[in-house]
Amino acid sequence: MTVITDVQLLKYRRTKIIATLGPASSEPDVIRKLIEAGANVIRLNMSHGDHDGHARIHERVRAIAAELKQPIAVFADLCGPKIRTGKFRDGQITLTAGETVTVTTRDVLGEAGLIPSQYEALARDVKPGDRILINDGALELQVERVEGTEVRCKVIHGGILKNHKGINLPHVQVSAPSLTDKDRLDAEFALKLGVDYLALSFVRRASDLKELRALIKSRKSHAGIIAKIEKPEALDNASAILEAADAIMVARGDLGVELNAEQVPTAQNQLINMARSKNKPVIVATQMLESMIENVRPTRAEVTDVSHAVSAGADAVMLSAETAAGKHPVAAVEMMARIAKQAEAFQFWQRKRTKISAIKQKGPIPFGDAVADAAARLSYDLDARAVVVLTNSGMSAVTVSASRPWAPIAGVSANPATCRRMNLMWGIIPVLIPEVSEANAIQTGRRVVRELGLAKAGEYILLIRGFHGDPQLNTPSITLLAV
Ligand code: PGA
Ligand code: MN
Repeated sequence: MTVITDVQLLKYRRTKIIATLGPASSEPDVIRKLIEAGANVIRLNMSHGDHDGHARIHERVRAIAAELKQPIAVFADLCGPKIRTGKFRDGQITLTAGETVTVTTRDVLGEAGLIPSQYEALARDVKPGDRILINDGALELQVERVEGTEVRCKVIHGGILKNHKGINLPHVQVSAPSLTDKDRLDAEFALKLGVDYLALSFVRRASDLKELRALIKSRKSHAGIIAKIEKPEALDNASAILEAADAIMVARGDLGVELNAEQVPTAQNQLINMARSKNKPVIVATQMLESMIENVRPTRAEVTDVSHAVSAGADAVMLSAETAAGKHPVAAVEMMARIAKQAEAFQFWQRKRTKISAIKQKGPIPFGDAVADAAARLSYDLDARAVVVLTNSGMSAVTVSASRPWAPIAGVSANPATCRRMNLMWGIIPVLIPEVSEANAIQTGRRVVRELGLAKAGEYILLIRGFHGDPQLNTPSITLLAV
C-alpha cells in the first residue's frame, strides 16, 4: 500500500468560497483578483465601515461580477446583539491580573480601571461570579458586584484592551433584542442595495429571524437569511433555527468563546450534518487561514482545518480578516481553493459517497428529497457527467445540492437573483438562460453541459425538473439522456 498524494483534480470546485471585503480589499483591482482566484460569495460586514463605503464597494462588486460574467452572491452581515467595549481616552488601557476594574454602561470615555460599554442592560444581565470575556476571550473578568450602572470586576486574564472590542457573556441570558435598531437600519440599507442574503449574528432561537423575514418580505426582496450559530442557546435550538433560516454559518469566532474551544469541532460536524439533512447550505467561518493575515503561507493546522471542513461536507468556507484586513487577500483565496480542490479530488478518487440517506431521518422523507437522493444515487451508479436542474426559485437546486451527487450540478434558471443565491450552494454551477421552458428542456440540458465542457457526445447526464410548491403542480422527474 502506498499513500496517494497525486489525485486528478476536478474541473469545477464543489465547495464555495466566501471572501469578506474590508480595507485590504476594497479597491476594484483587488476585488477582481479575489473573484478570479475563486471567491463565489462576497461578505460585507456591517460591524465595520459606514453605509456610503458599503454602497461604493457593493457597486464595484456588481460591476466587476458583470464584467467577469460571474453570478457572485453578496451578503450583508448584521451585527445582531453584539456587545462591545466603548472607546478609551488614550485609545487603549492595560488590564493586570488580580486588579479590580469597573465596567460602566454610562456614556463616557474609558481610562485605566474603567471600561465603558454601550450595552445598557449589561449591569442588569450579569450577577456576581459571571465571567466577562473581552476581545475573543483574550481578556477575562469576573463579576464581583453590581452597583447601578457599574459592574465591579476582578481581572482574571489581563493584557492590552483597545477601543470597540467584542464582549462575550457565556451562559448569561442576554436581554438585548435579536434585531437591534442598528440592524434594522443596516438591513433596510442592504436590501435597497440588492444583497442576496442577510446574515444575522447571535441568533438564539428560531423566532429571532421573524422580524428580519418580515422586513425582507415587506421590501419585496428575495434575499435569504443566514443564521449565524455562535451562542450555546442556538445549539440547543439548532433544528428549529435551521427550519426558519435559508442557510447557517458555524461562526466559530464567538462560538469558541461562548463554548470551550474544544467543543467547537464536534459542534461544527453536527451542524454540517443537520444542515444537509434539512437542505440548508452551511458555511464554516472564522480563523480558517488566520495566519495568512500576516504570512503568505498558512500553518499546517489551518490547511488541515479547511480540508476537514470540505471533507465533512460544508457548502462554503469563509475568509474574514484574511481578505478584509490581511496582507495577502488574494493568496488566501487561492490557497483555500487549492485546499478545497485537493480534498474534493481525494474524496472523488476514493469513490466515497457521503450518504445523505444515512443522515436524513429514516422512514418516509419529503417528496423532493427522495427525488434528489435518487438522482445522486444515479449519478454515482451511472458515472453521469452532470446533473442539470431547471429551477425557478432555487428550491430544487438546493435540494439536489444537499444530496451531494458526484457529478457537478448545473443550476439553470432564468432568474439572475436565483443564480446568485445558488452560488453559495455546494456543487452548483449557476447558469442563467433567457427562459426556462418545459418544451425544450432536453435541448437546454444538452446545450448547457456542452457549453460548460462537462460532457462529450455519447456521455450521460441527468436532467431534473418539475418541482413546484403547489402539490397539484409538483411533478418532479429525472431524465437520463446522452449528450
Ligand atoms: P463575526 O462572526 O466575524 O461577525 O464575529 C463570525 C464569528 O463569530 O465566527
Ligand atoms: Mn461573531
